[in-house]
Amino acid sequence: MMSKSLSGIDLLHLTIDDIRRIFSVDDRGLLEEMAHAARELTRRQFGRTISLYAPLYIANYCENECVYCGFHASQKSMPRSKLTMEQIDKECAALAATGNRSVLILTGESRFHSSPQYIRDAVRIAARYFSYVALEVYPLDEEEYSELYLAGVDGVTLYQETYDRARYDELHLAGPKKVYDYRITAPDRIARAGIRHISMGALLGLTDWRRDVIALFEHVRSLERKYPGVEFGLAFPRLRRVADDIHRYQEVSDRDMLKIMCSARLFFPRVGISISTRELPQFRDRIIEFGVTKMSAGSSTRVGGYLEGENKYEDGQFEVFDPRSFDEVKAMLRSKGFDPVVTDWRNIVNS
Ligand code: SF4
Repeated sequence: MMSKSLSGIDLLHLTIDDIRRIFSVDDRGLLEEMAHAARELTRRQFGRTISLYAPLYIANYCENECVYCGFHASQKSMPRSKLTMEQIDKECAALAATGNRSVLILTGESRFHSSPQYIRDAVRIAARYFSYVALEVYPLDEEEYSELYLAGVDGVTLYQETYDRARYDELHLAGPKKVYDYRITAPDRIARAGIRHISMGALLGLTDWRRDVIALFEHVRSLERKYPGVEFGLAFPRLRRVADDIHRYQEVSDRDMLKIMCSARLFFPRVGISISTRELPQFRDRIIEFGVTKMSAGSSTRVGGYLEGENKYEDGQFEVFDPRSFDEVKAMLRSKGFDPVVTDWRNIVNS
């Protein structure tokens, strides 16, 4: 594999300064070289496998006021609900019946409605149906993460949204999420609690994506050094505007996304990168060549959605833009020469 690009950047040994340089120019030739290198490197590290997972929303109460989200606490017209343990059991059974073995459990950010104990009990149920259980919930204390680890949590996803502290303050009007420092230090608490997989990301578009992606890369790199036993993952969700939001955001084009994806792969050769159903099918099908290792499929963002057969809300942040079923995504991957993986490798080793 060629290492040096025509512009003199060593693509297989990128530094943060190289990434700054790459982000500051619009060089089609360089992007093509990066795409080629990212594809080769992904094949070398991960073969042609893509792991599939699905989100499972057990509650959607929220105590925060993020201006870019239609589910903010004072938005009373949004339907709120929370599943009982019995309903969670049925919802897990309905999702597992599609063939999925990897689940991401989500709640809105409400400690009152979705307490750590509620989340722990839900995890215990999910662990009976799925070989891999991850969580995307509000940030917790270290002891709470330890309890969740003991209950069966394999991974935690937590996005910082933006690393620009002033912009963060401006966009998060009220609620516990307003405390930037408690959120940015959560990955340390997750790692210290013994949880082995931590997925991180920024909500691209809240501010200049270049600054956020660079800050995210620096954050993950510093955590890799501190916690060598932890596997880190990355995701690059793009902001989807909600109807009544008047704030100004920054466009992140498909080309920008390709640049971000390739930079992530080249800077972090072994890190898993996921792409969610927040992206359109055509885009997902193209971008998987350049670094993606994980995709959500057959997703519902509705509380109780798998039993009801309803998959989405008509709202930017929770809309499902790729409505294909689990089997349809698997068929698409096979047609492109990928090997969809639905079972966690540890269970294969143990069985
Ligand atoms: S982004 Fe999450 S925390 Fe913020 S208002 Fe929406 S649901 Fe609540």
